[in-house]
Amino acid sequence: MYCPFCQKETKVIDSRISDTSVKRRRECLNCQKRFSTQETPQLTLLVTKKDSTSEEFSPEKIHRGISKAFNKRPFTEEQIKTLSETINSHIFNNHSQITTKEIGKIVAKKIKQKDSVAYLRFISVYHSFDNLEKFKEELTKLENKKTRSKK
Ligand SMILES: [Zn+2]
Repeated sequence: MYCPFCQKETKVIDSRISDTSVKRRRECLNCQKRFSTQETPQLTLLVTKKDSTSEEFSPEKIHRGISKAFNKRPFTEEQIKTLSETINSHIFNNHSQITTKEIGKIVAKKIKQKDSVAYLRFISVYHSFDNLEKFKEELTKLENKKTRSKK
């Protein structure tokens, strides 16, 4: 959990645990401001897969997919984590059930706002667009352009 004021690391200074939630008081290691967070149980989300079977939504899986897409791109581990968390809570807050295809579209859209290379990589892996070959082509073009400009 990062400080909402300066986005730096915080520490937990007190935890109160009840039957339905955990409340933590935190202090920022940088600006020393204090705030509290509350953990409450979240509804699980069922994801329908292409073969019509379903599985529980996995934030971890989303994070892995995003990390892979951003591999060697100029983003920090923290930025990737924050992006994954934003996407995961967006999905949780707006859906009671969802398909893998919808998830792919949401994630792709969010990645696109950050980085076009990561975006192309993601969609080529996720198969979230119909015209996959065209996107692979574009990805290759983009990467070739970068290699050439480095020389
Ligand atoms: Zn702070």
